[in-house]
Amino acid sequence: MNDTSNNPRPSNFIRQIIDADLASGKNGSRVATRFPPEPNGYLHIGHAKSIVLNFGIAQDYHGTCNLRFDDTNPAKEDIEYVESIKQDVQWLGFKWTHLYYASDYFDKLYDFALQLIKLGKAYVCDLSFEQMREYRGTLTQPGKDSPYRNRSVAENLGLFDRMRKGEFPDGSRVLRAKIDMASPNINLRDPTIYRIKKDAEHHQTGSKWCIYPMYDYAHCLSDMLEGITHSLCTLEFEDHRPLYDWVLDVLKAPCHPQQIEFSRLNLEYTVMSKRKLTELVQKKLVDGWNDPRMPTIAGLRRRGFTPESIRDFCLRIGVTKADNIVEMSLLEDCIRNDLNERAIRRMAVLHPLKVLITNYPYDKVERLTAANHPQKAEFGNREIAFCAEIFIDRNDFMESPPKGFKRLIPGGEVRLRYGYVIRCDEVIKDAGGTVQELHCSYDAATLGTNPVGRKVAGVIHWVSARHAIRAKLRLYDRLFIVPNPDVQGSRENKDYTAYLNPDSLHINSVAVLEPALANAKPQDRFQFEREGYFCLDEQSPDGAPLVFNRTVTLRDTWAKSDK
Ligand code: ATP
Ligand code: MG
Repeated sequence: MNDTSNNPRPSNFIRQIIDADLASGKNGSRVATRFPPEPNGYLHIGHAKSIVLNFGIAQDYHGTCNLRFDDTNPAKEDIEYVESIKQDVQWLGFKWTHLYYASDYFDKLYDFALQLIKLGKAYVCDLSFEQMREYRGTLTQPGKDSPYRNRSVAENLGLFDRMRKGEFPDGSRVLRAKIDMASPNINLRDPTIYRIKKDAEHHQTGSKWCIYPMYDYAHCLSDMLEGITHSLCTLEFEDHRPLYDWVLDVLKAPCHPQQIEFSRLNLEYTVMSKRKLTELVQKKLVDGWNDPRMPTIAGLRRRGFTPESIRDFCLRIGVTKADNIVEMSLLEDCIRNDLNERAIRRMAVLHPLKVLITNYPYDKVERLTAANHPQKAEFGNREIAFCAEIFIDRNDFMESPPKGFKRLIPGGEVRLRYGYVIRCDEVIKDAGGTVQELHCSYDAATLGTNPVGRKVAGVIHWVSARHAIRAKLRLYDRLFIVPNPDVQGSRENKDYTAYLNPDSLHINSVAVLEPALANAKPQDRFQFEREGYFCLDEQSPDGAPLVFNRTVTLRDTWAKSDK
């Protein structure tokens, strides 16, 4: 499966903590991590960072890594997301040790809540949502105790039982941890640990429960129940760590996982929050979660990204506590490097211009041999049909070229890739002056060798007009026109959707391909020579026109002109 072993073992501050823990014999020298997505959307490249970190650590330290669905909020969750998350983790090349759902623990979490009540560390509170907010105080002012804070254990047990039985409406009561309303950390001001959600049908537990634990309460206990040693999460949970520790301490948990925070991945020219990605999908601003322009794993897969390139990217960005935004060109570099190695070469003409080779026998067809990869003989060869009628790209011909133009010009010569040298003898135009066709002649002595006594500067790609297959190419560009739509939006008082790139998808319906591409299968990856890397779309029809997605251009076209 995973060939991360080719890479040197990464080093980061989390691995240093683990090294120290192992050296001191902490956790019985075990390493156990987990990846805990909430099934309320598809995974994105930010999640991949967390996946590569958690599963990578488990692999390198011979430990374990669980996939745990953090499914404590049934209202936003769905089994579709559960399935997609499993698929994406596997596709990225990882195997979980165990698959769990936080909802597997609902009975145990309920029992722990009873324990907290009995310890006098939790109470049922009847304040409304607005009142609770008012009582909570602010960053600069302490909160006030709820009038329900000093209910007796018996009263709390009775009310909590009735909450569970569904006797109260949503929002009328919650169970709160009893910590400190004056704590400088607002998360410790008697946080809610259970709420009533009567209507929600849970994708795993159905209608068994009408009270649900809050994330902060469920997460630490789930980690503990699974014997997690290092609970890795993103920086926004730093302020929640005291609560994580409080719950485990008060309940005298037999093992106490260590929560360690690292910075989220932010990526230029896209958005990464599930709320925004969901909005793009729901408002049909993109073509679903797996739209190849989306930063989702499903989108990147459909776009032609390989699991190896995504893992490579995650290793290259590293793991720190510093918040930053990573350049899109880094991700593009990773896929270019990988595809340069593994993609089979093919010829595709995006803007066909007909060429008649006047001195080639009109009915003759020749099979030329072409390597599937210039450096990898093991990839083998394919045959390419050559005849008197071919297509070249319009952009490879110019009547009045600028200095340094190395392709075809009237009277000039160019080499056809894998084929002969041709010379342009005549330019045929329509009444409006548009070039319709070129009449060329070929030099029969130039197959695989240079012509004697003259230099041919350029090599262009082509396909036989009689054998070409038609295709529809989806040429993708970045989804947003500014590097940081969120920040720019708040600066200019605009919604992030104002910066969607109107040209993020261009469809080319005139392209023609060499016939070997007729057998392409979804996820086969190709370099269309001189044009870019492409893969067959998973929904391409069986017959023509085949639909290909451009994964990435051959070079960074954004580097010079910052659109
Ligand atoms: P969002 O805020 O977009 O909804 P999330 O953090 O709520 O994302 P979860 O499903 O809870 O999404 O995330 C599962 C795990 O992936 C968590 O441990 C989370 O910290 C991590 N994660 C999510 N987004 C990123 C990111 N951009 N970079 C690194 N890790 C991330
Ligand atoms: Mg979350």
